[in-house]
Amino acid sequence: MYQVTVEAGFSSGHYLRNYYGKCENPHGHNYKVRVTLAGDALDDSGLLLDFKLLKRVLKPTIDRIDHQMLNDLEPFTRLNPSAENLAKYFFDEVNRELDATTDGRVRVKDCTIWETDTTSATYSE
Ligand SMILES: [Zn+2]
Repeated sequence: MYQVTVEAGFSSGHYLRNYYGKCENPHGHNYKVRVTLAGDALDDSGLLLDFKLLKRVLKPTIDRIDHQMLNDLEPFTRLNPSAENLAKYFFDEVNRELDATTDGRVRVKDCTIWETDTTSATYSE
């Protein structure tokens, strides 16, 4: 299996519901996201996914949530915008992008979200 990774950053606000502690109050993070893509077959150029396209698969999701209050955006109006739920959100959104562009040849293997330099959450299936 071949794997490639792409990373990006975004800055968003959030607060956690049903949680008692610092994170129950609105505050912001400079998040980092890393998505690992995997597939068994390369394209005609010998690439799993052109790095130009790789950057592009994250862009629609980043553009939607960058400099926003996450709790005001679907699905985080009901789902807590924890690092865990954000990791699954990116996983699903990027998979949808990839389905449209690679016809299922490339899929998301895992997605990691950093809230700080030292704390992260990963989602995989
Ligand atoms: Zn927080």
